[in-house]
Amino acid sequence: MAVNILVVEDEPAIQELIAVNLEHAGHHVIRARDAEAALGIVRNALPDLMLIDWMLPGMSGVALAKQLRGDERTRGIPIILLTARSEEHDKVQGLEAGADDYVTKPFSVRELQARIKAVLRRRAPQMTDDPVEIGGLRLDPSTHRVFGDKSPLELGPTEFRLLHFMMTHAERVHSRTQLLDQVWGDHVYIEERTVDVHIRRLRKSLEPTGHDRLIETVRGSGYRFSANPTA
Ligand code: CA
Repeated sequence: MAVNILVVEDEPAIQELIAVNLEHAGHHVIRARDAEAALGIVRNALPDLMLIDWMLPGMSGVALAKQLRGDERTRGIPIILLTARSEEHDKVQGLEAGADDYVTKPFSVRELQARIKAVLRRRAPQMTDDPVEIGGLRLDPSTHRVFGDKSPLELGPTEFRLLHFMMTHAERVHSRTQLLDQVWGDHVYIEERTVDVHIRRLRKSLEPTGHDRLIETVRGSGYRFSANPTA
């Protein structure tokens, strides 16, 4: 799955190495050379994950991570710090600042990719290609297919993303605004009732095997995917 990764790194050679390899792995890479530029990019659109170099000109990578964690809008961005230092107290400081993980330079591209995958699994499972199976409903992101009790179901692309997000965040109620941010992207101005339209289409697609009942409407709050629907 293509993930939007913002790489904040001032050393051109390292920035290039990371960007080329992540793009080769199918990700979309946005580059920034310092914290200020990164904040400008984040203001426009939230990335799915950020790789932040510790030593940046001006505001440090740790200070940037702290600032992102302190803001409600950017709090949820998974962050991996890149550090040339390997001292234990620096790592602790980085994790305390809110980083989800850190990678010590020099690192192999393979190691970096493994860390990215692990952080996404933990923080944004809808961004991974891991298949999800709940209550007899199986969604496979790598083949883009959905099966209800092993029979294939036909879903449109938006319904697929919606179901993927809801299945990877099951049993929780999501407001229409949250679903818009997560599935359509933040800073995308779409009316809330668009969500209702796609929920209706999603239920219709799941109807042949009766899995539409797993999508619950929570009155006054939003929607929930549940393995044990109350209705
Ligand atoms: Ca640096």
